[in-house]
Amino acid sequence: MINNVLEKLIKEKFNGKNPEWKKAKWGDVNVLCSWDDKNWYYQHNNVIIIQSKQEDYTPHCYECSSKIDFKAQRKSIWFGEFDGCVGGGEVKTEHIPYCPKCEKEPSESGVIIEKSGYY
Ligand SMILES: [Zn+2]
Repeated sequence: MINNVLEKLIKEKFNGKNPEWKKAKWGDVNVLCSWDDKNWYYQHNNVIIIQSKQEDYTPHCYECSSKIDFKAQRKSIWFGEFDGCVGGGEVKTEHIPYCPKCEKEPSESGVIIEKSGYY
């Protein structure tokens, strides 16, 4: 699905040339980011988010033009040395961007396993 949107973006905004995507942090989440003179573009999950550099800074879904929503998600972070998620962990809140039309609303909680040592 993202490929169709990506193709549309490349055609309409980048003259058919594949833009360079950089890994970036947007708020609390990892995204791929690209830009031109007018806009920022973010890839997150299967959605491409467009944000104008000039006028309305509200991020929108590139596919359906909906305003991007943010969902506060509490994440438990468990460290790898505690097998099976027992032991210490910490909770942090992340704000997850999502398109209310194209995506399911993210759940309120999630788990990140941070491994220490080797994988
Ligand atoms: Zn959308």
